[in-house]
Amino acid sequence: MNDLTVTRQTFDEVMVPVFSPAAFVPDRGLGSRVWDTEGRDYIDFAGGIAVTALGHAHPELLKVLHDQGGKLWHIGNGYTNEPVLRLAKRLEDLTFADRAFFANSGAEANEAALKLARRVAFERHGADKVEIISFTQSFHGRTFFTVSVGGQPKYSEGFGPVPAGITHLPYNDIEAAKQAIGAQTCAVIVEPIQGEGGVIPADPAFLRALREACDQHGALLIFDEVQTGVGRSGYFYAYQETGVTPDILTTAKALGNGFPIGAMLTTKELAVHFKVGVHGTTYGGNPLGSAIAEKVVELVSDPRLLEGVHSRSEALRGQLAKLNERFGIFEEVRGKGLLIGAELTDAFKGRAKDFVTAAGKHGVIMLMAGPDVLRFVPSLIIPLDDMYEGFARLAKAIDEVVGATAEAPAR
Ligand SMILES: *Cc1c(COP(=O)(O)O)cnc(C)c1O
Repeated sequence: MNDLTVTRQTFDEVMVPVFSPAAFVPDRGLGSRVWDTEGRDYIDFAGGIAVTALGHAHPELLKVLHDQGGKLWHIGNGYTNEPVLRLAKRLEDLTFADRAFFANSGAEANEAALKLARRVAFERHGADKVEIISFTQSFHGRTFFTVSVGGQPKYSEGFGPVPAGITHLPYNDIEAAKQAIGAQTCAVIVEPIQGEGGVIPADPAFLRALREACDQHGALLIFDEVQTGVGRSGYFYAYQETGVTPDILTTAKALGNGFPIGAMLTTKELAVHFKVGVHGTTYGGNPLGSAIAEKVVELVSDPRLLEGVHSRSEALRGQLAKLNERFGIFEEVRGKGLLIGAELTDAFKGRAKDFVTAAGKHGVIMLMAGPDVLRFVPSLIIPLDDMYEGFARLAKAIDEVVGATAEAPAR
């Protein structure tokens, strides 16, 4: 192949079409701004799906990438390395956990968590305690086990028999959970705020009820903090504000600020059930990813940074309230910290994608959470000026969508 000229069109010619990317092609980023291949600039409200919590090209992360990149990238798990040990120490200092397993994504972190829960139940209680309980609309990744545990059947249908022993319950329904969790239950997996499912926070009483029922029946409680973790909620992990401590916590997305890394955190009592050879990975815990994640954890766990998430959250909600005064398109604004969802009114249900597309045209990178919800997951350190500029642009995009809707003939 001698012609390597590529455009958005090339995507349709060379890529497996599981994604449908925007018409523009991002080329570089700095902080909360991104430029496309045509040189147009965008305010980034999506952060690569809640990943670039410290924005693009953060100087301290660039320095670590450069230093560790010149030293050692990968060595394999027949050897340990200092960055991964420091990363584990930092995460354990910040949480209930005292053991860590590293992987390369959220799905793999959850895969490890679910396998650990099954193994613990097997070794403690025998072969029958296999039931995994999760919740409708939940999202836990795209490996076949995690996607089957996830609560959106459309993602797991059409791939043959799903793994057995998985039950889905309505989210935030205490009575349903109390009735379903029993002697057969091995684990309950829950997002403290459902992200992909529409930015729906768990009721603290619901999480407490799950904890009680798990304790009563010897089941493990797994918090999937892949999206809510690493400062996103204004706390380093969202569980820290709920008063409920899980047995296993999974984390990824913002952990590497874009360098692929995920982790499963747990206690030493549970970790002993993953003996040598019981689970594994080639890349997980490599020195390059670990060094970057260690710096991310150091920077994000700074109380001043977390305080800044709360103040930016208020600013963002203020901007949304103003937009809504003008356009009246949001039925509800919900979420925590800088994981905010704005649910569209009935008149605009199903049209989140239209707003995201229009936002792109006006220079804002936006995200949806299902067809009815606009999701805001900007950098945790987004400058307020960039936020306000983004909202000014978004207002133009909304004006366009709402105007076109008003002009359209009634159906
Ligand atoms: C994104 C996400 C995952 C999957 O993470 P990947 O890195 O895409 O595998 C799992 N759980 C939650 C809550 C997520 O938001």
